[in-house]
Amino acid sequence: MRFNSEVELPFEEENRAGAEVCVWCGNPLEGRQRRWCSGACVEEYLARKGYGFRDAVIGLNRESHGELTCESCGDKPGEENVEADHVEPVALGGSNDPEENGQLLCRGCHVEKTGEDLERIRNYRSGRTHENQVELWSFDGDSA
Ligand SMILES: [Zn+2]
Ligand SMILES: [Zn+2]
Repeated sequence: MRFNSEVELPFEEENRAGAEVCVWCGNPLEGRQRRWCSGACVEEYLARKGYGFRDAVIGLNRESHGELTCESCGDKPGEENVEADHVEPVALGGSNDPEENGQLLCRGCHVEKTGEDLERIRNYRSGRTHENQVELWSFDGDSA
């Protein structure tokens, strides 16, 4: 699968230059947003390009590794056994941008990661301390 490179992000240059605007619609970004103002903008962009989050994550992984590779354990279990994962769960404010927040995991790693995500989401929802939340926000996805 190749990406349809003809669909451009109208505000990408402004965003790169440091303006806090959504790369797709140009609306101002808030809080932790870096590229997209909303999931809807990402979805619309991906739909125009003709692929969904999973396809995009698979495509990116294939581009960088050749054979589909689990980004956690390094396995190459084949396309039917890989899952696209949001590094930072959407429920915790993670974006739907496959490049920024997507990773490819094998089934086993995905189950494990999902368990961790659910625990973090539970902690977050139960309104743990401010410190905990800061930790969540700075999570960089390099969970070993
Ligand atoms: Zn937008
Ligand atoms: Zn794995």
